[in-house]
Amino acid sequence: MARTPLIAGNWKMNLDHLQAVAYVQKLHWTLKDAAHDDASVEVAVFPPYTSIRSVQTLLDADKIPFAHGAQDLSMHDAGAYTGEVSGAFLAKLGCAYVIIGHSERREYHHETDEIVAAKVQAALRHGLVPVICVGETLEQREESGPTAVSVAQLQVALEGVPADADIVVAYEPVWAIGTGQVASPEQAQEVCAAVRQVVADKLGADAAARTRILYGGSVKSGNIASFMREPDVDGALVGGASLVAEEFAAIIRYQK
Ligand code: PEP
Repeated sequence: MARTPLIAGNWKMNLDHLQAVAYVQKLHWTLKDAAHDDASVEVAVFPPYTSIRSVQTLLDADKIPFAHGAQDLSMHDAGAYTGEVSGAFLAKLGCAYVIIGHSERREYHHETDEIVAAKVQAALRHGLVPVICVGETLEQREESGPTAVSVAQLQVALEGVPADADIVVAYEPVWAIGTGQVASPEQAQEVCAAVRQVVADKLGADAAARTRILYGGSVKSGNIASFMREPDVDGALVGGASLVAEEFAAIIRYQK
């Protein structure tokens, strides 16, 4: 089954809503000569909550057909949860995707595999596609090998997920995020293949054939093509390099 590659830009806590406007304008002019009308690659951007509306309005006005999403959501749908943002609100805003279980949330906000699983359920309840992040630290890699942590994290995250659910998994080795220490394409392939096997075991062969598995960790315009050549790598989750419009434009045009 052919899977449409997905390039996802995770802005993290960067670009306020005014800076986001300037960014999208720059992206517009960068893409101008070869507008991103290439349906063979899907692109999604994940601004901070406060910039989602500005980004969406500008992308629509500029006819840049990117999807957008949020970097997290609440496991609850509504109520007395100060500071939380419901998946219902994100869906109403037109978000298609939501990142769940990013290593920064696991580390700094103590999100456990069970919390990640509850957030996956919340996303699916509201028709959002969860981008489920998994990946090991260097110590975990040395201790239990390259695939064990991602396999274990994903097994919990997929508890109760129906076989026909639309999900994305992002393999992000923690040691490669924001460090410039990129995994090799072979290392990415090894874990992405193991991740696909978990999807097969939990959700069945059809889901495994359909589900997009991304690599994330110091992806740049200079290395994206090498990852995309791997059979189980269906795209990239890009952090730092997605903040520079010219660089992100070059990444999404990796085939050119
Ligand atoms: C990320 O945070 O999801 C990420 C992959 O970051 P970077 O590309 O900066 O390593």
